[in-house]
Amino acid sequence: MNSIDILVLGHLERDEDGSVIQSDTWSTSTLIRTDDGHNIVVDTSKDFMRAAIKTSLKQIGKVFPEDIDIIVLTHAHEDHIGNNDMFKNAKIYIHKDEVCDIDGAVRIDKETEIAKGVRIVPTPGHSAGSVSVFVDSDRHYAIAGDAIPLKNNFVKRQAPRLNIDEALALESMKKIVAYADVIVPGHDQPFKTS
Ligand SMILES: [Zn+2]
Repeated sequence: MNSIDILVLGHLERDEDGSVIQSDTWSTSTLIRTDDGHNIVVDTSKDFMRAAIKTSLKQIGKVFPEDIDIIVLTHAHEDHIGNNDMFKNAKIYIHKDEVCDIDGAVRIDKETEIAKGVRIVPTPGHSAGSVSVFVDSDRHYAIAGDAIPLKNNFVKRQAPRLNIDEALALESMKKIVAYADVIVPGHDQPFKTS
């Protein structure tokens, strides 16, 4: 069965005006181990979470940085992509509409199956090329990145505060909720949808 582990649990800190405090904000980083032998990391969090990712892999004890063969970046914001270089053997997938310059990255433009039961699904709105990763396992897991940054966005059916197109962002949230039994948000703990 495909398995999911959280390597780093994301966090989002705002000041009194609601602006994100970048120095206290980082994304979740998630490990997927697939039946067909892939080790996938979804988002590599912010650069200063490197030691935390290393520690998580050590605790799991059977996956080493060089075993990671795929990285999926839900989008190109810096709090999600800071430790790509930890995984020397990984092919990086990112949507073609994300503005960034990542050497050798595979640019996708539609739903893409990357392993058995694991697909990248475009969920734009937070950014133009935001994607989620849908994982068939004991339940349906959606690793949503900032398409759903916090549980509260789901509870209140509220688009991410930072978005390029609110209606599009809400549509993407619906797509995620329709699939998922469990959502792994970009900056919050995983939660059940029912
Ligand atoms: Zn973001």
